Amino acid sequence: MIGSAVRAVLLDIDDTLVDTRAAFSAAISAVVARWMPGSDESVPAAALAHWVADRHGHFRAYTRGELTFVEQRRRRAVDLHLALGGPSLDGETFRVWEEHYERAFRGAWRAFEEVAGFLDRLEAAGLAIGAITNAGLAHQRDKLDRVGLKERIPVLVTVDDLGLGKPDPRVFALACSRLGVAAREAVYVGDELDVDARGARDAGLTGVWIDRRGRREEAGTVDVPAVETLTELADRWGI
Ligand SMILES: [Mg+2]
Repeated sequence: MIGSAVRAVLLDIDDTLVDTRAAFSAAISAVVARWMPGSDESVPAAALAHWVADRHGHFRAYTRGELTFVEQRRRRAVDLHLALGGPSLDGETFRVWEEHYERAFRGAWRAFEEVAGFLDRLEAAGLAIGAITNAGLAHQRDKLDRVGLKERIPVLVTVDDLGLGKPDPRVFALACSRLGVAAREAVYVGDELDVDARGARDAGLTGVWIDRRGRREEAGTVDVPAVETLTELADRWGI
């Protein structure tokens, strides 16, 4: 699966190193409790699905440099309230909404249990380590710090570096150059099949899809290496 020329491993952060989906769930549950009190018990799950799906692509527009971080979040919040019956969000209401969301979101950040052991194995194998994320630098530094990974990820490329995000090949190339390796000497692991694994492959790296939620069947053809956990990757790689 992984060639012997590999000298570096790059990792996505959200839902690869950090259980961001669980943190979204906590944040959206807090939003539902505050702005949709008394709603049906199915609403938090429906709201989470709506939030993560981002049907109008506002987050993707942010990663293309077309919207600010706050604006993409505001549009997603407005969409969410329209779909699930929350009140309209004007400037001041959205400010309070965001505070509420952010407090619950940050409070729920946790690294996946296997991450520390996986990084130990990469270090023991002498591999350089970095991360590439489609969120901003301050936000992701804070996240890595809170989950105890800041010191363990020496190179971090974010959407702030080039003003755009994965799957643009320039983002992968920048991370490789910061680690001092060629693209073909780097493995990249992420949870989004297109944005992460195929994006990395198309940029000349070995792109690995981490399929934590067993989505292989619904994904159809999986034309990149796929694993269910980081431990499985290290085991199959033999490091
Ligand atoms: Mg991710």
